[in-house]
Amino acid sequence: MESSMPGVVYPGNIASSQPKLTGAHRADVVIIGAGLFGLTTALELARGGVDVVVVEARHVGFGASSRNGGQVLTGWRWSQKDIVKRFGKEQGQRLFDIAVAGRDAVKQRAQDYGVWSGGSMTIADKRKHESKLRSELDFDQSEHHYHGAEWLDKKEVEAITGSPVGYGGVRDLGAGFIDSPAYLKGLRRDALAAGVRLYEESPVVRITPHDGARGIESPSGVTIHTPLGHVEADRWVVACNGYIGKLVPRLQRRVFPFTAINSVTRPMPPDAVERMKPFWEAGHCVTGTNFSVNYFRPLAGHRLGFGGGEIWQRQGTTNVADATRILTKHFRYQYPHAARLLEDEGCFEHVWSGKIAVTPNRLPAIGAQGSMHYAIGFSGLGIAITAAVALVVSKHIMQSMEHTSTFDPAKARDDHALLSTMSRSSFPPLRWTVELAARIYIAQDKFGS
Ligand SMILES: Cc1cc2nc3c(=O)[nH]c(=O)nc-3n(C[C@H](O)[C@H](O)[C@H](O)COP(=O)(O)OP(=O)(O)OC[C@H]3O[C@@H](n4cnc5c(N)ncnc54)[C@H](O)[C@@H]3O)c2cc1C
Repeated sequence: MESSMPGVVYPGNIASSQPKLTGAHRADVVIIGAGLFGLTTALELARGGVDVVVVEARHVGFGASSRNGGQVLTGWRWSQKDIVKRFGKEQGQRLFDIAVAGRDAVKQRAQDYGVWSGGSMTIADKRKHESKLRSELDFDQSEHHYHGAEWLDKKEVEAITGSPVGYGGVRDLGAGFIDSPAYLKGLRRDALAAGVRLYEESPVVRITPHDGARGIESPSGVTIHTPLGHVEADRWVVACNGYIGKLVPRLQRRVFPFTAINSVTRPMPPDAVERMKPFWEAGHCVTGTNFSVNYFRPLAGHRLGFGGGEIWQRQGTTNVADATRILTKHFRYQYPHAARLLEDEGCFEHVWSGKIAVTPNRLPAIGAQGSMHYAIGFSGLGIAITAAVALVVSKHIMQSMEHTSTFDPAKARDDHALLSTMSRSSFPPLRWTVELAARIYIAQDKFGS
């Protein structure tokens, strides 16, 4: 266990297993960041015959990828109803297929690694969310022929979760959750076996692109520098998400920095265990519909993996006390009975936090410029989506390098164009919400409140 920020610990730390980058190296592609997006992209490229180096500042999964709630959900941050409204039927179907392919890739791998638990529930926190959720489910069933999900009414939801919260919800048996640190260890093993050269404890401190203003079809490469070495490559991928800092300022400017909080609770007291019996039996993860979302899952020993609450990073560093206070509020809302029983000793065994990057429209920003490829701003929903985007980005890179024996290059180009168009599109209500929040935090910065 290790401090992720002052005084905040997280479980499942993945120790470095690979050397630091020293001296001069060359590769077809260099990837900066070994979270879910960077490692999955590296694996896909290496399996396609591309020579890949991954350079990670700390260790595999140091960022959000090992700190998350493990929920592998179906779809994007927008409902498919909104996606189809915005992009039309055909593109909407393609976007749905891309998201499902990402989810299924994670699921398949997690099953191989023995770290998959099936089933997720999305529960309407407010009465007004119920009809919206229900109509989105109807839409997915009728428009996309998605029959992995079903509607549960308020009583059914309560009977499963043992929580008084919720006005009905969707149970999706195609979705589920993973043990993220264990999943990342499996991914690291696969990437190394596929020939990926991975360097840990090697922060990239400087980037020298060689291509100036040239287009993606004629890039002339990059040199990335770490304190002890450098890598020259034809292409580079930025996979730093919320941890990007000032490394690539034009990407950093595209996202708002949030901190998300997560925990493992103490074992539930016997009375709460009894009330929640069906929850342990069902073994589903749960997500709410509030903006500052609660998400939780059953863990061994009648504990919950429980997350809730997001904080603007500019508001200051999150310490254990602040994080615990925020989380306790969320836990009391969800499980008032258990929270009361645990109050004296405290509700949580471990509390930790992680950085997420949020875009104005809450869809990841995906693109290519010169020899650089990037995906940033997974907006707190990134396990299935990082895999979906990695599949598209890796094919797009291979298509531009003419490594196309295993897929249709035109489709690879079209999918990448579709994702980068999607990421640039605005959706007024969402943009308005996030921009308002941004104004508030800028004002707080100014006036020190
Ligand atoms: C508390 C929490 C709960 C979450 N819960 C869920 C959930 O249940 N379901 C879900 O779908 N999503 C969830 N998410 C979001 C999800 O975890 C992220 O979207 C996803 O992990 C992003 O992956 P990534 O690889 O893009 O970024 P990260 O995992 O953040 O990886 C970025 C990496 O880049 C490295 N890096 C940064 N700068 C440099 C540099 N200069 N040189 C070298 N390396 C560098 C960092 O060290 C880091 O390892 C959650 C996130 C958090 C924080």
